[in-house]
Amino acid sequence: MTGNDIDLHAVAERFRLDGDVTRVAPYGDGHINATYLVETTDGRAILQRMNTTVFPDTFHLMRNIELVTAFLRAQGQETLDIIPTRDGSTYLEDATGAWRMYVFIEDTVSYNLVTDAAVFRAAGGAFGAFQNQLSGFDASQLTETIAHFHDTPKRFRDFLAALDRDAMGRAAGCPDEIAFFRGRDGRYATITDGLADGTIPLRVTHNDTKLNNILMDARDGHARAIIDLDTVMPGSLLYDFGDSIRFGASTALEDERDLDKVHFSLDLFRSYAEGFLGELGGAVTAREAELLPTGAWMMTVECGMRFLADHLAGDIYFATRYPEHNLVRARTQIRLASEMEEQADAMAAVVADVMGGKA
Ligand code: ATP
Ligand code: MG
Ligand code: MG
Repeated sequence: MTGNDIDLHAVAERFRLDGDVTRVAPYGDGHINATYLVETTDGRAILQRMNTTVFPDTFHLMRNIELVTAFLRAQGQETLDIIPTRDGSTYLEDATGAWRMYVFIEDTVSYNLVTDAAVFRAAGGAFGAFQNQLSGFDASQLTETIAHFHDTPKRFRDFLAALDRDAMGRAAGCPDEIAFFRGRDGRYATITDGLADGTIPLRVTHNDTKLNNILMDARDGHARAIIDLDTVMPGSLLYDFGDSIRFGASTALEDERDLDKVHFSLDLFRSYAEGFLGELGGAVTAREAELLPTGAWMMTVECGMRFLADHLAGDIYFATRYPEHNLVRARTQIRLASEMEEQADAMAAVVADVMGGKA
């Protein structure tokens, strides 16, 4: 069923809004859920038809969001505020789909791209504060809404399976890229093993740290709230840190064809680390701090092998605009990961320097 067939007014009115609904219209540029702005005689709200294909377990998804936002709010942190249905549920499910409503967080801006170091530092600060505020939260209460999300060894096995099948006969066209991922097999379990043996603490991870999921104050630019909590799950802080570096500390887009433009920026790595560690302070363990560069590398390699696996499988998962699109994406990730390998000592020195500044 498309949005056009649904009486959005009627859906909105089933939530506990104060005023009368005057208008419901598509809003924002999210890719996963269908998002609408609801205007009432009393104010504004966000209505979302949740993507139950990507997240089939709506009950546990909403429970995760409820638990995490309640914990954040109790510490005075601005966060998503669920508007319940008229019968008191956190979401609504009927023939038209699964729906939820949030209070509209007013007077904010967000960015789609890293425009400068200050914005990236602010993003690091937002996620550092998020980790800090949730450091006392028992992450094992949360449900894994997408199983094995950052299980890099499993992602590698999936890659090998796609290679084995070679459904499109594309493997012969990318031997160097295949060799890159095969050649690093021994390092993929560093984080998963650490979580399993307890040397890396299990924490709440956001898992979708892109910039437009941070709402920043329209007046002074400080990070107000982290939104889009669908992928909040138990995991390692290294996942969120690493994925932010993967997309934000790159000098080019994820699908840049000209690899000469694709570089890992140590300066942007420093900016993010300053923001992140500045807010996280003593809540980061020594082992986590030591592994921050590895986290960046791991998320980049993991993403790259997923792109290459999808290229081999015939572009099933990631939307593509041309036949080599996923291969191009895999190559940018390989380039970034290679530069991170070359600059591993420099990254470690940055972390030590930023941590030293904190002590
Ligand atoms: P993504 O593609 O990042 O996964 P999504 O489809 O999951 O996105 P959201 O990020 O939850 O959707 O919301 C889409 C957009 O709607 C946000 O980028 C933001 O601009 C806006 N938005 C969502 N919730 C709120 C809120 N509570 N207050 C104000 N704006 C919001
Ligand atoms: Mg979003
Ligand atoms: Mg989302």
